[in-house]
Amino acid sequence: MLTSISGRSVIVTGASKGIGKGIARVFADQGAKVLVVARTLADAEIAAAEMGSGASAFSADVGDWDQCQAMAAAAAERHGGIDILCANAGVYPQTNIDEMDPSEWDLVLGTNLKGNFLSVKACLAELKKSDQGRVILTSSITGPVTGFPGWSHYGASKSGQLGFMRTACIELAKHGITMNAVLPGNVVTEGLEGLGDDYLRTMAASIPLKKLGVVEDIGFAALFLASREANYITGQTIIVDGGQILPESLEALE
Ligand code: NAP
Repeated sequence: MLTSISGRSVIVTGASKGIGKGIARVFADQGAKVLVVARTLADAEIAAAEMGSGASAFSADVGDWDQCQAMAAAAAERHGGIDILCANAGVYPQTNIDEMDPSEWDLVLGTNLKGNFLSVKACLAELKKSDQGRVILTSSITGPVTGFPGWSHYGASKSGQLGFMRTACIELAKHGITMNAVLPGNVVTEGLEGLGDDYLRTMAASIPLKKLGVVEDIGFAALFLASREANYITGQTIIVDGGQILPESLEALE
């Protein structure tokens, strides 16, 4: 049993759908005050409404500095500060290098990597005031551990998040703030379903547990990293992938 995080102020970016929504719901179920952030306000409002009175919606693009500052100000005003930032928003268009427009590279890096930097920077002043400041990044196995055609930009962004974390967590440590990353494998979300049935079926077959993850699998890992019990863990990664990175060959899965 983890010490309660009831009443803590949490920002979850990319929380109108998918993994972010799952993280936000897990925190809201524990009595946290959750700011549900996405670019599309209507979607964020629907998601927040499903989570009860402790959650409210905010529209911000994590790739935009002014909007990240407005997001942090909204959490401080509505919830009296910021204790936990879950920097989860990310995009993953799938395009091989020879067909990739340079603007797509900028979009992916701007959202997934620069978006982490801007979100952390915007929340830092409030996180410093917390007695248990936490930053939890949603990275991926893709990039830090594995590769997949069409995701060179995505893999670079997800590996970059860990490089950012390993220095940022040292800077944040002097303020008592920890920073860790969850690396999901393949988790059923609106975004992943967009990749098609063939992708989902073959991916499930490549996973030792023989199924894709659900968003709560990531939410509970984030909840642990946000807990008092994880007080002494910083700059680390937790892979949540059903064992996907482990098989050395197809034979290993038989
Ligand atoms: P998703 O279902 O496509 O949902 C993405 C969420 O992020 C939506 O709420 C979207 O809302 C928001 N978003 C996108 N761009 C944004 C921006 N610039 N600023 C603010 N919000 C933004 O995605 P997902 O599958 O849940 O993935 C979420 C995170 O998990 C990503 O970082 C992804 O890389 C990571 N991940 C996912 C998987 C997986 O299997 N699903 C595996 C490994 C890692 P708006 O469009 O309205 O902004």
